[in-house]
Amino acid sequence: MVNWQKAMILWLQDKVDILEYHSVRVRSAKKSFQLPSVLRLRKYIRPHFSSVKVKLSRQNLFLRDNYICQYCGNRFPEKALTIDHVHPVSRGGKHEWTNVVASCGPCNNKKGNMTPQEAEMPLKSKPVQPKWLPSKEFSYKSFQKRPTSWEPYLSHLKK
Ligand SMILES: [Zn+2]
Repeated sequence: MVNWQKAMILWLQDKVDILEYHSVRVRSAKKSFQLPSVLRLRKYIRPHFSSVKVKLSRQNLFLRDNYICQYCGNRFPEKALTIDHVHPVSRGGKHEWTNVVASCGPCNNKKGNMTPQEAEMPLKSKPVQPKWLPSKEFSYKSFQKRPTSWEPYLSHLKK
């Protein structure tokens, strides 16, 4: 998702096709433009995040794991999730991307001071160092609040 200023720049740089417009217009010194509401990228623009190290924070971790507890596989709101160290810190596990997963409270309690093998709680996916994270604005919630003019272009997506 791009904000309208970025969208205008992409359009002026000839990188996007405008499929639909909003009813609002914006003015520059010389011209007025109608704001685009649906854009198609002409070419995939590689996000230039690859050199950026994603900070290991609570929120970034939950974003990486899609708010899904990596033990029971259920999705939880942020406040119900905890950070679990796969190899417990008390037993030499490090606080690093490859050793942390999102876990719901009950799973974290159940696992306690054990490794997934000892607790017989296999991980849903192997923890990795993320190369980039989706912006927080582009959450499932905001996706549900998408403008109605997007509908025809998103018809292939499951509701
Ligand atoms: Zn769980």
